[in-house]
Amino acid sequence: MAPKKEGRRGAGMPRATVPAYNPLGLYPLWTPPKPAEQFGRPASASLTIESLDDRRWPSVRLSPQAHGKMWALIQTCNIEVGWLSTCYKLGDGFVIDDVFVPQQRCTAATTVITREGEAELLDTLMSERKYDTINSLGCWGHSHVNFDVFASGQDEAQTQEYLEKRRGQKHNHFIRVIANKRGDFFCSLYLLDSELVLHNPLLEVAKPDAEVYVAWAQEQIDRKVRREIITTVTLGAIGSELGGLDLHTLDDWLDSGLLDMAAYKRLKPKAFVSVNPLGSSEPPMGGIEDFGDINRGDVQ
Ligand SMILES: [Zn+2]
Repeated sequence: MAPKKEGRRGAGMPRATVPAYNPLGLYPLWTPPKPAEQFGRPASASLTIESLDDRRWPSVRLSPQAHGKMWALIQTCNIEVGWLSTCYKLGDGFVIDDVFVPQQRCTAATTVITREGEAELLDTLMSERKYDTINSLGCWGHSHVNFDVFASGQDEAQTQEYLEKRRGQKHNHFIRVIANKRGDFFCSLYLLDSELVLHNPLLEVAKPDAEVYVAWAQEQIDRKVRREIITTVTLGAIGSELGGLDLHTLDDWLDSGLLDMAAYKRLKPKAFVSVNPLGSSEPPMGGIEDFGDINRGDVQ
């Protein structure tokens, strides 16, 4: 075969977009992409392990007291609220036993337990000689009020801090709870010995005498929760905490003084009108992700 001749003969013909050969060196030869590029897993995917039988994994049990206190805190507080819980291993599973509310700074969509708040809680327990309680404060929980119970970037960062601390104290487990008023309960059990985290392990929930804890919750919230208003400065940090933002919620926040007018005006064009304000409506396309121009930083 003479490639040059073949090329001339085909000059008047429609040119093929990908030549079968490279007669004049004008076209780059097609080469297949490398296999690694071809078979990358989706960007958002991570390794998932699923058991065909839930009972093979450790379960998490909520004592009636822990259940009652969490429920009362979440239902009583109209903004976010966080707590620390005692937990311990029992048989093949773990028990969340009691709930303590440290001093914290909260907005409608964030909660930060302050260092002083945690230190104060430990001091109190120390003065009561409750060393076992101090030692078993291995569970951190917080409410997402009416929003979905996914872990935000801020929640993940906070979790890493707790995990580091627990490892430093030679503990082998940590439990994270994110719950809301609808009763969604996202529990993650960190097994530090085996470097595993079990999201949504089997939950065993004892039914509490809920009414008993409402007055307790109100007193704790009044005393420990420092309410902070959402401003344009804090929007960046808060944006990532929200699963969606509907106009009804936004109006409510403004009416209740949880949001200032400047922040309201900033958020309103991005809000959507939900049919059922308390339901888990889907946010609009490009809704809450679009806060790139707003200063990011911790709520102070
Ligand atoms: Zn959160």
